[in-house]
Amino acid sequence: MYNPFNQVMVIVAHPDDPEFFCGGTIARWAHEGVDVTYLICTRGDKGSNDPAMTPGRLAELRVAEQWAAARTLGVRQVVFLDYKDGELQPSLELRRDIVREVRRYRPEVVVTCDPTTRFSRGIYPNHADHRAVGDAALDALFPAAGLPLYFPELLAEGLEPHCVAEAYLCVTNEPDTWVDTTDYIDLKIAALRCHASQVPDPATLERRIRENVDPRQAAPNAPRCYAEGFRRIIIRR
Ligand SMILES: [Zn+2]
Repeated sequence: MYNPFNQVMVIVAHPDDPEFFCGGTIARWAHEGVDVTYLICTRGDKGSNDPAMTPGRLAELRVAEQWAAARTLGVRQVVFLDYKDGELQPSLELRRDIVREVRRYRPEVVVTCDPTTRFSRGIYPNHADHRAVGDAALDALFPAAGLPLYFPELLAEGLEPHCVAEAYLCVTNEPDTWVDTTDYIDLKIAALRCHASQVPDPATLERRIRENVDPRQAAPNAPRCYAEGFRRIIIRR
């Protein structure tokens, strides 16, 4: 597949979000030569039910897991912001911090969460942090990242305005764009296994992922194919 873009930034709330939400797509793009950068807004410091775990130790563990998963998929840059897990808000501060990294890395496409998803697939409550990061990221992309009078302190840091062309929204109930990830399903599973603190039963997770074939596949006996769906938003033509 020819990709009309070279730089992608994945802006999400937690370590493991990129791989769970769109790991196959990231692997595919990276292997097609796209330079992918992760911007992870928290270090996932609340994601444990072990009473002996501390937020500091968990954050350290999850940063290392995220780097391992990113390398597995072919992602070279992982940037962490220092917001607390479970407390992300679509604040001006978060918007500015996202604008800063968008202007620094200058992606043509940003992948983030659909902020309108209150219930994932209509039944699962969507994490508040996923909604908050989607809101903050879209508000950062339009119009703040592209206009010099927004956050003038960033200009003083040498970060010129940058217009992103498109956003691909994951965790969406309204997918309109599908990426065929059939050849990358093994890499997605390998990357998810890197998040050992979040995947207590990797065999069950793998079985579920392999059962979750492309929902558009009509013939039940056809060879299995996989796809990840996104809601595509055009920001600049
Ligand atoms: Zn998450």
